[in-house]
Amino acid sequence: MAYVIPPMPTIGVPIHGSSDLFPVRRIYCVGRNYAAHAREMGGDPDREPPFFFAKPTDAIVVAADPANPVKLPYPLATKNLHHEMEMVVAIGKAGVNIPVDKALEFAWGYAAGLDMTRRDLQNAARDKGRPWDMGKGFDQGAPIGHLYPASRIGHPDKGEIKLDVNGKPRQKANLNELIWNVSETIFYLSGLVELGAGDLIYTGTPEGVGAVVKGDTLIGSVVGCGSVAISYV
Ligand code: MN
Repeated sequence: MAYVIPPMPTIGVPIHGSSDLFPVRRIYCVGRNYAAHAREMGGDPDREPPFFFAKPTDAIVVAADPANPVKLPYPLATKNLHHEMEMVVAIGKAGVNIPVDKALEFAWGYAAGLDMTRRDLQNAARDKGRPWDMGKGFDQGAPIGHLYPASRIGHPDKGEIKLDVNGKPRQKANLNELIWNVSETIFYLSGLVELGAGDLIYTGTPEGVGAVVKGDTLIGSVVGCGSVAISYV
C-alpha cells in the first residue's frame, strides 16, 4: 500500500547541544496564564480553571538563534499580528488524568516559544462566540527555539521570561507569576485529552503583548531554556 499523496513529514524540534530531534505530535496552548495579561485582555485573573486551545503541528518554525533570526512572511489576512512570548513544555510520555504530584515526570524538556496571534481575527471570533482557530492556528504561527531536556536543566519555575522587539523590551516577567504552573497545567489538560509523547504546551504569555509589523525583529528568551528569534519580511 502506498500513500496517494506525500504524507506530512514529522515536525522535529532540535535538542540543544545535540543532533537529536524531538518529534512534535500536537500543540496545545494555555489561555491567560499570567494575571497582568488576563487583565490587559479584559479578563478576570482569578483562578478559574485554565482553558486551552490548539495550533496545527506544522505551525512550528524552529528559530533559536538571536544572531540569525528566521525570516518569516507577515501572515495572511491580518492587520494586527501580536507577539505572545511563552515557555513551552515538551511532553515525553503519554498520560491521562495525571496527578499534580506526578506531572513533572511527563515534562521531557522546555523551550522558548512565541504564540503568534492574529489579534484582529481572534477578537472578532471571540466577540461573536466563534472559535479562535483562525486567530491562533495559522501558518508559521508557532515559532520555537531549541528544546532543553529537564534531565539537564531541571523544571524551570522561576526566573526571567522576556521578549525584545527591535532591541527594545516589550515583555518581561517571572515564571513564578504563572497562574497555573507546569504541574497544574499538565493535570488539567490531561483531564481533557490524553497527552501523548511529542505534545507541546505553550504555557501562556505575560503582560505586554502588542503588534508587530513587517521589518520587526523579535528576540525572546526564557531562563535556562534558550531563545527564540524571528523577523518579519
Ligand atoms: Mn498565548
